[in-house]
Amino acid sequence: CGIVGYIGPQTASGILLSGLQKLEYRGYDSAGIATVSEAQLQCIRAKGKLHHLQEKLASWENSAVLGIGHTRWATHGKPEEHNAHPHRDARDRLAVVQNGIIENYRELREELKERGCTFRSETDTEVIPHLISEKLDGLKAKGEPSLLEAVRQAVNHLEGAFAIAVVSADFPDELIVARQQAPLVVGFGDGEYFCASDPPALIHHTRTVLTLENQELARLTTQGVELYHFEGNRVRRPPRTLNWNP
Ligand code: GLU
Repeated sequence: CGIVGYIGPQTASGILLSGLQKLEYRGYDSAGIATVSEAQLQCIRAKGKLHHLQEKLASWENSAVLGIGHTRWATHGKPEEHNAHPHRDARDRLAVVQNGIIENYRELREELKERGCTFRSETDTEVIPHLISEKLDGLKAKGEPSLLEAVRQAVNHLEGAFAIAVVSADFPDELIVARQQAPLVVGFGDGEYFCASDPPALIHHTRTVLTLENQELARLTTQGVELYHFEGNRVRRPPRTLNWNP
């Protein structure tokens, strides 16, 4: 039900957790975080309130500077740890958080199973990492690996209202976000960038924000933010300054 993401010089896990705390008012039944550092993906999830995740994080040595986080309000699949986000591809190289509902997930799941995918959850969300992974394999085979392009191709198969954030151990310097009819905002810091479902999760870090429009995706790096339409064309829109207090 809530998404957060961070890329920059600071340790991501604390920023992600405090961002999720700011989104608690939206309601949730489980939570999780995925980070990337030294080409390794790490994922930690917990059923119930955020303090359960916080307790697990306490014994977690993690200095990663890139990551995503999620509070889930289950729509498809029971509120159990294995259904909590982030969801990963079969090789545990990429992780996805999703806010919303993938309406055509049943068809996609069947197609992916026919192509040899095994699923570890009952959620609508898990089709997304598998789809991105397939698209990435196709791009790699052509000698054109691009996480942005793989996500762009994957989201074009998805129906429904959703917002997603994606990280991959093979692309340790970028965070990809996309939205279709569910809210998603990108925050601009100084050499650091944030994403969230809702401004309260990032307003303590920055007031300079860019709200994604329908069918837009963005690549966040420590150098800046590139915005694109799902069709692939670059979109140029300056960020705006929030002038309200949370
Ligand atoms: N439909 C997704 C799920 O059940 C996401 C729910 C949400 O927005 O938290 O996992």
